[in-house]
Amino acid sequence: MNETPTRVYAEIDLDAVRENVRALRERAPRAELMAVVKSNAYGHGALECARAAQEAGAAWLGTATPEEALALRAAGIRGRIMCWLWTPGGPWREAVEADVDVAVSGMWALDEVRAAARAAGRTARIQLKADTGLGRNGCQPADWAELVGAAVAAQAEGTVRVTGVWSHFACADEPGHPSIQLQLTAFRDMLAYAEKEGVDPEVRHIANSPATLTLPESHFDLVRCGVAVYGLSPAPELGTPAQLGLRPAMTLRASLALVKTVPAGHGVSYGHHYVTDAETTLALIPAGYADGIPRHASGRGPVLVGGTVRHVAGRVAMDQFVVDLGADTARVGDEAVIFGDAERGEPTAEDWAQAADTIAYEIVTRIGGRVPRVYLGG
Ligand SMILES: *Cc1c(COP(=O)(O)O)cnc(C)c1O
Repeated sequence: MNETPTRVYAEIDLDAVRENVRALRERAPRAELMAVVKSNAYGHGALECARAAQEAGAAWLGTATPEEALALRAAGIRGRIMCWLWTPGGPWREAVEADVDVAVSGMWALDEVRAAARAAGRTARIQLKADTGLGRNGCQPADWAELVGAAVAAQAEGTVRVTGVWSHFACADEPGHPSIQLQLTAFRDMLAYAEKEGVDPEVRHIANSPATLTLPESHFDLVRCGVAVYGLSPAPELGTPAQLGLRPAMTLRASLALVKTVPAGHGVSYGHHYVTDAETTLALIPAGYADGIPRHASGRGPVLVGGTVRHVAGRVAMDQFVVDLGADTARVGDEAVIFGDAERGEPTAEDWAQAADTIAYEIVTRIGGRVPRVYLGG
């Protein structure tokens, strides 16, 4: 491992990734697990997390873009990989040649993958995506017969094999939401239609992390877990990571860049939205919104310094923000934990999400490219 960076770094505990994958597999014992490693594994490092997830028994890896899937292959990752966010003219042929399963949500995509398979002289593995109610990607029920019919015909000509039928939930993080059962019913109907028409999928799947954790009837043959693999709760209402048997993999650590005493009445950071009410000690954290610290958490985001949780004083700037240590002191170079594991008394990505009015997914995923990742348990 390289020397520990001094400014700010994201420590990624690959043992936590492995433990989380094992815990999720226990939650879905009859299904295989797909570790979703899109967007650089939600900021944790796609390649390292892909390897750790596979070591812990993830049979599949999932990415959004084909480029993400191809990068995993180029780095030597074997096993099943699926990607689902395609646009016309995408690298279909490269994906077919790299043995990546590709999602097909409409006729245009089926046409492009057939042409790519012919050009490559290979059979493409495709997974038909049904829009069972999310209203985002996927094929509408009204268009399903046409897509299934064309896929069956393409299968007969040998250009494609339909390896999967799948869908995605809109509200799985709100157990009991009426859309969940409606989507399950639509999924079963669309699946039954495809099977009646001659599709024999290896994997049928609809569950994301919250459905994996809360809804066993949604597990089918495969569960697609992203956020839970990284040890975060999909929603605070579902419980803390510890309550769900998960452990956060990312700890964002920084070194204090300056510690100084300022008088009462001193404005702090742009706009002077924070003014000291007495003589006090300020500490400078050398990380800002360029590093993914949300500016919306100005005045609110928590940081652990010297064993006490402090809050951002004033605005988060591009590269730095300030915390007020009050009567306490600290030394320049001391460690600050921006977020990590509540079980160690640290603020969490969820705390930052609440401070910035967003979700923990976004907090970890947006940790920027300027922040080095340091791996534990490699
Ligand atoms: C991101 C994503 C997932 C993973 O969702 P989590 O809630 O992070 O588990 C699963 N399926 C699809 C289609 C996705 O885009």
